[in-house]
Amino acid sequence: MKFAMHSTRTPKLAEVIDCGCCNHFHPPGFDGDCRDGNNRLSADQLDAQYGPGGWIASNEGG
Ligand SMILES: [Zn+2]
Repeated sequence: MKFAMHSTRTPKLAEVIDCGCCNHFHPPGFDGDCRDGNNRLSADQLDAQYGPGGWIASNEGG
């Protein structure tokens, strides 16, 4: 695998919430229904949008 290093700085990663309910990801601050498809992101969608490694998932804090 080849990595392109454009900068020594760590690029800002897009943060999403790893949802334990629907096994998808939601935007930060999302407070809606998991069936809201516009706010339900799959890893593939995030890879396409931010690139692999361009996003980070955090667990919802309860
Ligand atoms: Zn969900």
